[in-house]
Amino acid sequence: MTELTGAAAVVGLIGRPVAHSLSPRMHNRAFAHLGMDWVYVPFEVADDAVSAALAGVKAMSIRGVNVTVPHKTAVIPFLDELTPEAAAMGAVNTIVNDSGRLVGHNTDGSGFVRSLREVAGFDPHGARVLVLGAGGAARAVAIALARAGAERVAVANRTESKARRLAEDVARHGASSAGLSLAREPLAAELRAADAVVQTTSVGMAGDPSLPLDPDLLAPRHLVADIVYTPLKTPLLRAAEARGCRTLPGWGMLLYQGVEAFECWTGTPAPANVMREALLEALRGKEAEA
Ligand code: NAP
Repeated sequence: MTELTGAAAVVGLIGRPVAHSLSPRMHNRAFAHLGMDWVYVPFEVADDAVSAALAGVKAMSIRGVNVTVPHKTAVIPFLDELTPEAAAMGAVNTIVNDSGRLVGHNTDGSGFVRSLREVAGFDPHGARVLVLGAGGAARAVAIALARAGAERVAVANRTESKARRLAEDVARHGASSAGLSLAREPLAAELRAADAVVQTTSVGMAGDPSLPLDPDLLAPRHLVADIVYTPLKTPLLRAAEARGCRTLPGWGMLLYQGVEAFECWTGTPAPANVMREALLEALRGKEAEA
């Protein structure tokens, strides 16, 4: 890490827990690489301390923070402004302290879209996408895909009513949409015309061998993205590769939400390759420990 001076700028992360976060590694490696007098610090914040934490951000002239689970919605009432993306998603993962005004951004969805372009070489404009899951990450991904010009963003979820609710919101952003269950027939019908599948449920995480859909439904023309990043290659990604599909692993979204946050705070292009190296090193280390 670069030696800090008294003028160092501080950014960080608020959430609970934060000890597992890989963001300090990505951002501090980037600051060191660019020789910037900046530091990224994790702050564990209890549910009843969100307002005090944000007052502290202002009081201590902290330049910005990432926000993680469970505070992505809870921070909103304490912010001075939201970007249109954050307002559309009803969630904030990045706050910029603009001379005492706290502005809430959401780089989860835009970071995912950027990973589609930068890592997978897939342009979502005009594409037909099936999103599996309807939780917080699915909302960011599905709305960002619609805002990026996808022609159709269908949502399939174990709890079908949540898929239908998210599909209604997605349709307000210009894409055609539908809310489905995870039953085979509706998924098969949707996939016949789809270009890409984005898996956003927690299925396949950390040793869970299950698949969120039958891989026989996948064809080589599908790009299959999984936003789960532990393991690096999820059971769905393995099955999709075996079917001849192109794949996009979850580290892509994690990397590019960080790249975009870095750029929001510093106004400087982020060294994405350096951040990617730091992130993959940390993820491989976690896999080796498991
Ligand atoms: P969330 O809001 O709790 O949503 C969880 C989703 O998973 C819901 O759609 C839920 O369906 C579904 N689900 C859970 N267990 C399931 C099962 N056994 N079978 C089928 N569906 C199941 O969580 P989230 O914040 O959206 O996060 C979801 C995943 O994305 C997590 O693994 C997280 O680590 C990952 N993530 C990755 C990134 C990244 O940067 N790569 C960013 C954010 C999140 P129901 O609605 O039916 O419960």
